[in-house]
Amino acid sequence: MSTKTSSLMTWHKDERINDGIMRHPADSMAWKSFDELHPSFATEPRNVRLGLASDEFQPFRNSKSSHSIWHVVLIPYNLPPWLCMKQENFILSMLIPGPNGPGDAIDTYLQPLIEELKELWEVGIGTFDASAKQNFKLHASLLWTINDFPAYENLSGWSTKGKLACPFCNKDTSSIRLTNCEAEIAGPIHYRWMYPIER
Ligand SMILES: [Zn+2]
Repeated sequence: MSTKTSSLMTWHKDERINDGIMRHPADSMAWKSFDELHPSFATEPRNVRLGLASDEFQPFRNSKSSHSIWHVVLIPYNLPPWLCMKQENFILSMLIPGPNGPGDAIDTYLQPLIEELKELWEVGIGTFDASAKQNFKLHASLLWTINDFPAYENLSGWSTKGKLACPFCNKDTSSIRLTNCEAEIAGPIHYRWMYPIER
């Protein structure tokens, strides 16, 4: 709805240089495969492409007792690379208060966001394009999540420790136990992460 930002929301379609060099998620195979899978979403470049990043942080650096707050941030990837990762364009969806992290109960906190994302994906919402000066129905999609391995456990609801440590490989996780080691080692390198479409 802002004249300053509405034209930037179609940067990934209108301004991006398609020369095979990776500068933005729109240059990636994942983005292009998504477009092939969801052509009706892809034909409207104003539809919003989101990433979800979540992790914990300690708000009191000098305190001896640990206090864990979790943040959930959405990143709008429609914007050019020099803007989409700027703090002012992050959407801080929620802060989950401490002192202990939510663990698997992060699901409960995420519920309102998931409901809203589902509505934006399935139904969409009527809004105004200030550049084109027209109303249109805007949809949004969540392309991926960004998290470290412990947070991946909470978000996926699958243990990232022990024998079946890979939520993506799931029951097919390849792992071995070293003779003199307590821990289970998962391997080989999970190349499928780089080429998820092949799976
Ligand atoms: Zn794996």
